[in-house]
Amino acid sequence: MGISRRIQNHPRMLAIGYRANYWIAMRLRFLIRLLGAERLARWLYAPEEFSKRRIFDCRMCGQCILHSTGMTCPMTCPKNLRNGPCGGVRANGHCEVKPEMRCIWVDAYDRSQMMTTYRDELHIVQPPVDRRLMKTSSWVNLMTGADKIEVAGWDDSRESEV
Ligand code: SF4
Repeated sequence: MGISRRIQNHPRMLAIGYRANYWIAMRLRFLIRLLGAERLARWLYAPEEFSKRRIFDCRMCGQCILHSTGMTCPMTCPKNLRNGPCGGVRANGHCEVKPEMRCIWVDAYDRSQMMTTYRDELHIVQPPVDRRLMKTSSWVNLMTGADKIEVAGWDDSRESEV
């Protein structure tokens, strides 16, 4: 088992790190006014990619929902599904597109059950990924709120039906 998988199999610890990261990001929002979002994004992109690529195989979608998916990156699903598995999960829990790979949603479910915080967020219906934010810093998008701007046509009233 690879080192990143070993780390991801400790989602409770990772969720504590996420929470700390969120707390810090919210307190550093004044930097957006001081430096501008673009400059901050230029500075933070590389460290975010460096750290998250190694731990989560992050694809820099710019709208991080790791804490809602058992600290398992949904963008590593070959179909980029952000709301659970497709109908093609094999009987052994592996992916229909990449048979050698375990379905990321099987991992997401298992890991979410180990978490104390954010566990129930797995049930939240996520909006479609906004491709305009691909290859941008989710840390900066969190600070500016850009990751909360919903794409046209998305009806989040369905969330309450779940
Ligand atoms: S959800 Fe997006 S930002 Fe978060 S780890 Fe996955 S690709 Fe990276």
